[in-house]
Amino acid sequence: MRINKIKGTLDLYGKDIEMYRYIENTACSLAKKFGYEEMMTPMFEETEVFIRTSGESSDIVTKEMYTFKDRGDKSLTLRPEATAGISRSFVENKLYANPGLKKYYYIAQGFRCERPQAGRYRQFTQFGVEALGKESAYLDADVIYFGSAILNKLGIKNYKLKINTLGSKEGRSTYSKILKEYFMKNIDCMCDDCKKRVETNPLRILDCKIDRNNPVLINAPKIQDYLSEEDNNRFQKVLNILTALGVKYEVDANLVRGLDYYNHTVFEFLYDNPESPLNNLAILAGGRYNGLSKEFDGPDTDAIGFGMGIERNMLVLDELNLYQEKDYKIDVVIVNVGEESKLEALRMANYLRNNNVSCEIDYESSNLKPQFKLCERTNTPLIIIIGEEEINKGIFKLKDTRDRSEKELKIEELNELFKIEGEKYAYQK
Ligand code: ATP
Ligand code: MG
Repeated sequence: MRINKIKGTLDLYGKDIEMYRYIENTACSLAKKFGYEEMMTPMFEETEVFIRTSGESSDIVTKEMYTFKDRGDKSLTLRPEATAGISRSFVENKLYANPGLKKYYYIAQGFRCERPQAGRYRQFTQFGVEALGKESAYLDADVIYFGSAILNKLGIKNYKLKINTLGSKEGRSTYSKILKEYFMKNIDCMCDDCKKRVETNPLRILDCKIDRNNPVLINAPKIQDYLSEEDNNRFQKVLNILTALGVKYEVDANLVRGLDYYNHTVFEFLYDNPESPLNNLAILAGGRYNGLSKEFDGPDTDAIGFGMGIERNMLVLDELNLYQEKDYKIDVVIVNVGEESKLEALRMANYLRNNNVSCEIDYESSNLKPQFKLCERTNTPLIIIIGEEEINKGIFKLKDTRDRSEKELKIEELNELFKIEGEKYAYQK
């Protein structure tokens, strides 16, 4: 029986993998400009790492984690997200020891047993950042600005930035109680999941994907009305800085995000294209998570970060036609005339490859037809033709397939043609 890939996973090749790397490289190189250093943590951790951070009642922990026992009967989990691992590492490696802000970026595969659909996979990749050690509103705004800068660099304009505050943990407790009472009164009009959440995590109901347009949710009490003046002022400061930086946003009082660890600023960049099946999906999202490091017995550290789904953004780039595949991947094909010059063709190809020129030969044939077919297939702009005669004279033929011109070139001119500095190529007779 044929074996296929696991539901909700992807094989990436051709244009897709190029697009994947393009997004990854765009985000990573911009991250360095914004002062983030790379961090890589393991793909699996003790299950406890995620239970402590995401929260026992979160969707991730209750129904999305890939959890298994290892041979020593220890419960391990494939990471559903990367912030927990980075916080664990931050504490374990005492990265807090030197005072000041620590800024990390990561590329991390995540695993969630979700119902596969457009832009939602069971294995996906996140580019993300974590800034640990400062609580400044300027940092919140800068992290959000960085998110918008990546999307802008990728050319994505169809997005809405939604933002909200969850206040401090303490400030939120009154609101949680009020919300619980309100939902209790309206419990009959809510989905089955939300009925359970009333007890375990009433805030999370506001983020329900099923009940999104339910008037009970829309008319629910708003968090801002219950937070302290200090919490609300802090939020207002973040908004003012964003405005000054030219970042457009919408305050959405029902935005709470799915994980328990968030506090103060939370935000989501949603894809905005009503005609698309991807409309309203979060393409980049995050928030503040002060104190998460205490879950790992570390010092109380202020922190903020976001994650961005690479595969989801690939769909967006594709849909908006924002990624153009390169016309060609091979700069030059060396064609040999007759079997005797095959080895010379390979030598010249390797010389060029070692000097930063992408180069190919036909390994099998010395007949011209299949060799020219290779040039056609790869859409190669340049062709070098060499045979015994060329080798003896030290002159080869150069064809430019774009204007179909052909000329003779001395072997000494090879470096100049490809802007190679240093050693000179010579035929080996
Ligand atoms: P959603 O609301 O779409 O379920 P989320 O709130 O669960 O997203 P986060 O945990 O904040 O997502 O992850 C950050 C980003 O990672 C998301 O904005 C999205 O771009 C991406 N992402 C999350 N889950 C998936 C998935 N199953 N497949 C692909 N990308 C994902
Ligand atoms: Mg989710």
